[in-house]
Amino acid sequence: MRIFATDKGTPPVIAQPAPKPEILARRAEILAALSALVPGDGVIGDATRLKPYETDGLAAYREVPLAVVLPRTTEQVAAVLRYCHETGLRVVPRGAGTSLSGGALPLADSVVIGLMRMNRILDINLEDRFAVVEAGVTNIGITKAVEDDGFFYAPDPSSQLACMIGGNVMMNSGGAHCLKYGVTANNLLGLKFVTIEGEVIDIGGAHLDAAGYDWLGLITGSEGQLGIVTEVTVRILRGPEGARAMLAAFKGTEIAGAAVDAIIGSGIIPVALEFMDKPCIHACEAFAHAGYPLDAEAMLIIEVEGSTAEQDDLLNRIKAICERFDPISLKVADSVEQSLAIWKGRKGAFGAVGRISPDYLCMDGTIPTSELPFVLKRIGEMSAQFDLKVANVFHAGDGNLHPLIMFDANDADSFRRAEEFGAAILTLCVEVGGCLTGEHGVGVEKRDLMSVQFTARELDQQRALKTAFDPQWLLNPSKVFPLQETPAAIAAE
Ligand SMILES: Cc1cc2nc3c(=O)[nH]c(=O)nc-3n(C[C@H](O)[C@H](O)[C@H](O)COP(=O)(O)OP(=O)(O)OC[C@H]3O[C@@H](n4cnc5c(N)ncnc54)[C@H](O)[C@@H]3O)c2cc1C
Repeated sequence: MRIFATDKGTPPVIAQPAPKPEILARRAEILAALSALVPGDGVIGDATRLKPYETDGLAAYREVPLAVVLPRTTEQVAAVLRYCHETGLRVVPRGAGTSLSGGALPLADSVVIGLMRMNRILDINLEDRFAVVEAGVTNIGITKAVEDDGFFYAPDPSSQLACMIGGNVMMNSGGAHCLKYGVTANNLLGLKFVTIEGEVIDIGGAHLDAAGYDWLGLITGSEGQLGIVTEVTVRILRGPEGARAMLAAFKGTEIAGAAVDAIIGSGIIPVALEFMDKPCIHACEAFAHAGYPLDAEAMLIIEVEGSTAEQDDLLNRIKAICERFDPISLKVADSVEQSLAIWKGRKGAFGAVGRISPDYLCMDGTIPTSELPFVLKRIGEMSAQFDLKVANVFHAGDGNLHPLIMFDANDADSFRRAEEFGAAILTLCVEVGGCLTGEHGVGVEKRDLMSVQFTARELDQQRALKTAFDPQWLLNPSKVFPLQETPAAIAAE
């Protein structure tokens, strides 16, 4: 990762494409033109009100954009994109700005297009089990809209109170319950999508598997590189008859990793299978008071669902597997309140770790579950090597790791070591047959590691695809691809 951390106390800087001087010089004219396209209070241009948009969930990096535009309709999004295309203006799409990979980090000469005002639920069809919502509806907002009728929207990122469905589509977000139900891509039916030329395209719809190329698959996870999503059609599911969570505590992280592998290897698919190590257990227990086992080196949260008989059967089988790994304790929640408390701790884990360290980097690699014991052991060794603490909390059933590397952003050396530690973990994930990201996307955070995962030819092919959608590389141009590998014409600017 290309970080130029400077003196103590100075925020780190990430390499970005140079701002276009001709765009900066035309700022007043651009603001006026955008205001005509999105009238009223739809354009932000003054320094104080631009400040909240300078960063996202990867708060280490900051850049105040040229302007922010807050459209309310697809037509306004199309008009703004058409104008940006004609003017050569860079565009950074933004939902709630919770990206942990810096996906919504602005450029100094960019227009941020914020989708948060497009927050209407357009259609709910319980009979055919779909909902059509605007891109700025929060993830939890979809479930809230259908839960009284016994339905829910399955992907559940921990940020679900804030993050928006458009952002979820662009990052192909996951969550604790995606082990059973799949990630965003598995719960999507259709999109309304606007190209950089301002063309509005409907992809898929309220039916399964549209004919022709899988455009839905192409656009899902494309990190704002190909166009802007304004409407999303999602699958909604009937809620389960019941669900119960259990805690399994172990004497070592590798032992808990081996238990995960054994559960998944047995063919059981719990609805969720989450892992927390000791630093994380302690941080979470301090605020959730969920009865987490403080003497454990690692703990699993395992949730099953179905009728009471189905739950009992699955829990008994899981308990029998866990017993082979000499657990410290096995505890099944005996009330809805206890299940909720168990999840409250897990869902607040990132915030809880924030209380014990001035800063942390949240990594997001994915590995085959059979590699969990080895990779957890190596992360422990690297923690000593880089002299930085790490807390592990992750979607273990999917092999989706989230090591939280604790550091002090005011200490340039600590930040450098955190970056190197993170890169070493992600490289290890690729080496054992996994990949650079499970759910947080590449963004700016992992873009310089893309060549660890992909050959030069594979990267060329991906860049050619982006160029087909966005010939001038105006859409989120500094993300996903290493800067030196963007087309020569763009890199030279
Ligand atoms: C505390 C915390 C917990 C988290 N937990 C999880 C988790 O469990 N699982 C998980 O997957 N992620 C998690 N995340 C990461 C983040 O919440 C997800 O990546 C989420 O999907 C981002 O949504 P957003 O609306 O905030 O998008 P943003 O952060 O605003 O944008 C994300 C990316 O999508 C692009 N984009 C946004 N909206 C659009 C649009 N309408 N059209 C085109 N491009 C767009 C942006 O340019 C950017 O590249 C967590 C983040 C935090 C802070």
